[in-house]
Amino acid sequence: MKRRILMAPAPERSPELPWPMPRRRTLFLRAVQRHCPRCGGGHLFRRWIVMADQCPTCGLAFTRGESGYQLGAMWFNLLLAEAVSVGVFLTTVVLTWPNPPWDRLQIMGPLEAIISPLFFYPFSKTLFLAFDLAMRPVGTLVDRQEG
Ligand SMILES: [Zn+2]
Repeated sequence: MKRRILMAPAPERSPELPWPMPRRRTLFLRAVQRHCPRCGGGHLFRRWIVMADQCPTCGLAFTRGESGYQLGAMWFNLLLAEAVSVGVFLTTVVLTWPNPPWDRLQIMGPLEAIISPLFFYPFSKTLFLAFDLAMRPVGTLVDRQEG
């Protein structure tokens, strides 16, 4: 198997260096607010789930030049939605033990399973972007395998 080291793809018209890489904590705090993790700029979403292609402030391409980039955001979305659903279920059972409201839990569980991913979708996109920037900052070398 042949390995090659490539430069990470750069956004099309963005200057790379004027935006210093923030600390990881800053990346994630900005992402939780649905802001660009790199520069902190807002207005990344046109609607709740429609994200711009690049940051209007710093020009960071949100797919970072890769196809299939959305898969990571979907994984974050699933993780957040499942954590909330399981957390609400377990908290309700523990707080109401020995008589948990099973009828209400049977209704609320599926509703949470539908509503939570819709609610967390924009946060999952910015959080995955922050995670990716923390692991693979803009302009760093990236290992890629060619098969
Ligand atoms: Zn930005």
